[in-house]
This record gives sequence, C-alpha cells and structure tokens, in this order.
Amino acid sequence: MSESANPFESLQSQIDDAAGYLDIDDDVIERLKHPERVLETNLTIERDDGSLARVTAFRSQFNGDRGPYKGGIRYHPQVTRDEVKALSGWMTYKTAIVDIPLGGGKGGIVIDPSEYSEGELERITRSFAKELRPIIGEDLDIPAPDVNTGQREMNWIKDTYETLENTTEPGVITGKHLASGGSEGRVEATGRSTVIAAREAFEYLGKDLEGATVAVQGYGNAGWIAAKLIDEMGATVVAASDSSGGIYATDGFDPVAAKDHKNETGSIVGYEEADEEITNEDVLTMDVDLLIPAALENAIDGDLAADVSADVISEAANGPLTPEADRVLEDEDVFVIPDILANAGGVTVSYFEWVQNRQRFYWSEEKVNGELEDHIVDAFDALVDTLEAHDIDNPRTAAYVVAIQRVADAFDEAGTFP
Ligand code: GLU
Repeated sequence: MSESANPFESLQSQIDDAAGYLDIDDDVIERLKHPERVLETNLTIERDDGSLARVTAFRSQFNGDRGPYKGGIRYHPQVTRDEVKALSGWMTYKTAIVDIPLGGGKGGIVIDPSEYSEGELERITRSFAKELRPIIGEDLDIPAPDVNTGQREMNWIKDTYETLENTTEPGVITGKHLASGGSEGRVEATGRSTVIAAREAFEYLGKDLEGATVAVQGYGNAGWIAAKLIDEMGATVVAASDSSGGIYATDGFDPVAAKDHKNETGSIVGYEEADEEITNEDVLTMDVDLLIPAALENAIDGDLAADVSADVISEAANGPLTPEADRVLEDEDVFVIPDILANAGGVTVSYFEWVQNRQRFYWSEEKVNGELEDHIVDAFDALVDTLEAHDIDNPRTAAYVVAIQRVADAFDEAGTFP
C-alpha cells in the first residue's frame, strides 16, 4: 500500500465532492464526515512461549441513522485509527447505496496474522470479542470478515459473545460458517457484486463483455472469485497479481487453476499456464478492457493513474484509488465503479445472513444470488440516473450523492437528540 493518501481524508473529500450536488445543510454534511464513536483498546494475550503480547485494536461506529452499525474486522500490520474510521464511513455509504437497513462500522487489529499461531490468533480474537461485547449485538453493531479474517474468526467472536451473554444470537455477526448460521453465497458475494456491477457498466457503455480482457490485482477472496465469475461470463482474464508478484498470459488463463496453484504454493506466481511474470504495477497499468483492484487502499495514486490503460475499473477493494487518481481517471474518461457499489455484495449477503439468523429460516443459494443481483442492479441504476440527472462526470460522486441523501433523509426524519 502506498502512503500517498490518508484514507480518512480521502473519504471526507469524496463526501465534499458529492455535497456540491446536494441540497443539504453544511452542518448536516459535517456530521456525516465523522464517526459517531471509536473504541481503541489494547489487548493483552499470552503467547505460546508464555510471554505476553500487547495488541492494539479499533472499532469505529460511523453512522447508525439507517440501522445497526455494520462492517468487517481486518487483521493487518498497517491498520490505523484513521484507516478504520475511513472504512467505517465507506460502509455507511455502501449500505445506503444498496439500500439495506444498516449503518456503517469497521474494526481492525494491528497485527500481521502470519506471525501468530492459530491458538494465539484465537486468544487475540476472543479477547477483542470480550472488549466488543458491550457495544455489539444484532440490533447494535454487527461485525463481519474483512482483510485476513474469515469464517474461523467470526465463529470465535460469535461463540465468545454468546458464552458471555448466556444466549444464542447468531445475528450478532455475519460471514459465519454454514454450520454456525452462515448464509449460502456469502463467501462469493464480494466477487459476485464486483462482476455484476462490471457487467452493468459494460452494458451502459455499449461495450461487449464477451471476449473483453481483464486484469485482477489481488488474488484473495474477492479477487479470485471475481476472476472466476468474469471468466464464466465470457471475458478473458489475462493478468493477475498477489503480494508476491503477477502473471500474464496473452490468451488468458484458467482462474480456478491459478487459485489451485496459489493454494499449493502460496502464490499465483509460477503458475504454469502464464506466459510471463510481471509486477503488481504492470497489472494495474495493463492495456485491458476491465481492471479489478482487489487488494488494499491507495493501490493507484495520481502518478500511477496516468499510466492506467483500462476502460472500466470495478473496485473490489475498499479505497483502491487516491482522490488524485480518481481525478486523473475522470479526466481520461475511465469509468470507475466505486467500491461502495462494486464490492457491496459482501455486506448485502451479510444482511441476508442476518435476516435468516433472525427468522431462523434459511434460504437457498439461488434465492441469495437472485436477491443480490436485484440489489446491485438497482444500485447501479440509481447511480446512472443521478449521473445523468446532475450531469456528473465521476460515477463515484454520483454514488455518494445517492447514498448521502439516503442517510441524510433518515437523520432528518429522526430529528436531533437531545
Ligand atoms: N468487509 C466487507 C466490506 O468491506 C463486508 C462487510 C460486512 O459484511 O459487513 O464490505
């Protein structure tokens, strides 16, 4: 991740860009630029050798006007308070653009999980869950997976919460294993919305997805599923990267076989169907029809944006473009489907998981995917309607106009307490 932008400042400038198109008082906009509260905690856990480790963790509750705070928890050495605040804001506008009755929150633990054993990770996670217990709950704040967390961590949090509360409340957290009240389709949901949004954008722009070339930066859960699904839609994945480097194949490669290679060796680099090894930067600047950044924030800054050659970008990651990169790409007429819409599949299916948990009644994968499709297509249509109605050049700004209006309406209806 480049250090070129503070994500919290990026969020605030995205809100400012949209505010110019909205008839909302400045003091209300000001409120929508800051989290309601942030928990910062230092966890003490026992390492396997008997020594103690101090680990810093955050939970930011950005906005609850439209419903309980909602958003993932990431484990990464570069997690900062400002990053978590930004991510919680992006969740607020993400749940608003796809119109699900939830607010925005986010958590993070400042660790490199590869440096801890499974037992240590379990103690860190359960210790964080104990700190979170008073402020989470199915009607309060509902965490979920994010970078470097998944079903295993969610199940630990669920079990800790339910044990301490002496209850069963699977809806306190989403992204759980199916055996623990998870939903069909949740694991694939982020990659799925990324490609549904790309398909809608291609149709809107009059471009053919069949035979289109695709580059994917990041081959984790979001990136590799997006690669697999876009390949199934008839596009050709020609380049991909992970934290070890990138691969390129002129005629494209099989995304599933590349994932198998990564599972076996730890990286997609060295995958035999590839023609050559390339850098992460090569992947981001490759001359393709569609670029999918699926790693961390600030992957593309203003300088790199000048070299981006893709026609469409679908942001599977949160915050992959700095505001400067956004402006450069806007000038070059690159159609950027913003993160808050493109990767909203994750939280949308989290919402379905929460609904199923509360009803104790579970849906088929077909129903989950059908409902997801409807939410993403409706959100894309709302974006395009706003883009055209206000003659806005940047799709991100149009998405924020829709989302901020929805949050402001809920705030307006509720009034101010005290
Ligand atoms: N971490 C995912 C995101 O950034 C999913 C959040 C959720 O499911 O609540 O959207």
